[in-house]
Amino acid sequence: MRNGAVLEINLNQLGINLNCINEAFPTNKVLLMVKADAYGHGIIPITKYAYENNGIKSFGCATLAEAIYIRNSLEGNFELFVFSETNLKDASSKSMYLDFNIIPVISNIEDFFLITDDLDYKYLPIVLKFNTGMNRLGLEVNELPVIIKQLQKHNRDIEHLMSHFACSNLSLENSSNSRQIKLFNEIKKSLNENNIKFNNSSISNSGAIEQNYGHDDTFIRPGLLAYGQQSVMKNNLLKINWDGDLISSLKAKVLQIRSVVKGTPIGYGANPVPNTGTIYITAIGYGDGFSCSFQSTDFTYGEKIGKLVGRINMDMCQVLFTEKLNLNKGDWLEFWGKDNSNFESFCKKAKKIPYEVFCNLSPRLPRVYIKC
Ligand SMILES: *Cc1c(COP(=O)(O)O)cnc(C)c1O
Repeated sequence: MRNGAVLEINLNQLGINLNCINEAFPTNKVLLMVKADAYGHGIIPITKYAYENNGIKSFGCATLAEAIYIRNSLEGNFELFVFSETNLKDASSKSMYLDFNIIPVISNIEDFFLITDDLDYKYLPIVLKFNTGMNRLGLEVNELPVIIKQLQKHNRDIEHLMSHFACSNLSLENSSNSRQIKLFNEIKKSLNENNIKFNNSSISNSGAIEQNYGHDDTFIRPGLLAYGQQSVMKNNLLKINWDGDLISSLKAKVLQIRSVVKGTPIGYGANPVPNTGTIYITAIGYGDGFSCSFQSTDFTYGEKIGKLVGRINMDMCQVLFTEKLNLNKGDWLEFWGKDNSNFESFCKKAKKIPYEVFCNLSPRLPRVYIKC
């Protein structure tokens, strides 16, 4: 651990973002994606706040272990879904799903038969995710006849029918998105024609939500947007009234200040600095998940532009400002904060998707929760 760098997480802002999503989708329920430690923000505090403050009752994990961790840490009447690492073939998982009241999202035919043929799973809600064009996980549309037959045989409904977009950061009018939408509708139609009830359905992740898609389903499944970052980065695709901001601020303390002239070698590899100015040696590095690919990235701090010069070190980095700031040794320097357009441009310049930048933040970096 360390105390010279921190990811400060404003839970009130999470509440505001979720309210904003709720205003755009007043009749939909939210299945909040909290996989990968809630995109690096801390799975327990995020789940707890969303449940207690916003009344969210459905959460999405990637792994069974993540879901068990939530169940063991939080009391409450909420559903937990496991999306990818379901481990259904592992005999010991069975008691986990049943004892901890966790729901696997079934996305292949072997698991579907395993669950529906096993009488122990009789009371487990059936949640099916179909591949409509992403070609990652998912039941195939041509498996629908055998799925329908099996559900009829056991007299079972589908609790939640799902699919997932491959490109929801692009316009939904784009041909691959419209093909996915069409296929998902055909699946629904076929289930209806065969009298297979599905109580809930969802397809929209952040990009689709931003484009105001998902009102015909009962659920939406936001991840990134709840944490305050848009997934659709072209504002003309934004079709909801989005007034959210980033819930996190990444800050590190200034360890040393040094004046340099253009060309002064700096840090490992002795890279020459591109401009004359002041270097702030700052207490965050790749050991905190502050990636080496942030080298040369710039960011806005107050009204000034700071540039990460030289290599990112394990524990430190060098920030160049062409003007001297009112910033002393021991003061905090913020790399990103509330204003998500700064974070967006930071990610773009680093050629990283915001998802990865968040998820890479390492356990050494303390997460501090505030409400303001
Ligand atoms: C991660 C994930 C989401 C959320 O995606 P965002 O782009 O973060 O909103 C929704 N559904 C599934 C199946 C996911 O894996």
